[in-house]
Amino acid sequence: MQNIIKPKPACPVKALILDDDDMTRKFICHLLEDALKGCALEIAESENGDDAIGKLKAGSFDLFMMDINHPGPRANEILSGTINQLAQKPLVVIISGSLKDTDRSGPEWRLCFAQLAKPWDNKAMGQTLKDVASVLKNKPFILCSKHGLPLIKKPILYGLPMEGMDFSDVILGGCCMGEYGRFGYQCPVDGEAFIRDEKGGMKKMYEEEEE
Ligand SMILES: [Zn+2]
Repeated sequence: MQNIIKPKPACPVKALILDDDDMTRKFICHLLEDALKGCALEIAESENGDDAIGKLKAGSFDLFMMDINHPGPRANEILSGTINQLAQKPLVVIISGSLKDTDRSGPEWRLCFAQLAKPWDNKAMGQTLKDVASVLKNKPFILCSKHGLPLIKKPILYGLPMEGMDFSDVILGGCCMGEYGRFGYQCPVDGEAFIRDEKGGMKKMYEEEEE
C-alpha cells in the first residue's frame, strides 16, 4: 500500500484594511500576502470608517489593519463601538502618522494587538507582520488572561541574548545559546512569556522571585 501524504489544508485568513490612500492599501496588501504565504488569504478594503464598520459587522475578520486618520468614525469609536461588540474579534493593527497624535489612554486601545508609526520602520513592520502571521497560523487564538489579546507563538531559546541576535524569540537565561526544543507564547502587550503546563493550560515562564 502506498503512503499518501496529504497536503496540509491552507489556513484561511480574512483581513480588512482601512486606509483612504490607495497606494498604502496596495502596499499593505502586498506585505500581507508576503507575510501570510501558505494561508488562504482573503483581503477586503475600505476607504472610510463607515464602510469598514459595515464590513466588520457583516463578516468575521481575523485581522483588521486600520490607519488612524481616515474619513468617517474615528479609530477609538470603531474600537469601542464595533470591535468591542464583536463576538469574534479580529487582531487589530493600528497604523498612524505619529504615535503621539491621538490620545490613546482610553480602555478601547487595549483591543489593539500592535501599533505602527508611519513612516514605517521596516524592522518594526516586519516583526509585527511576523507576529500577526504566527498568531493567525495557530488558530484558535490562545488569549492572555490579563489583556485578552492573542498570545504570539515563538520558539524557546536559551542563553544570553547577544548582538545581532533575533530578539523575536522567547529567551531563557543561560550561558550559551541553543534550542530549547519547544514553543513558548508571548503577550503582545507586555512581552510576558508563557509555556504550556502539564494540564494544557498556560503558566508564566518567569515567576517573580519572593523577596
Ligand atoms: Zn498580556
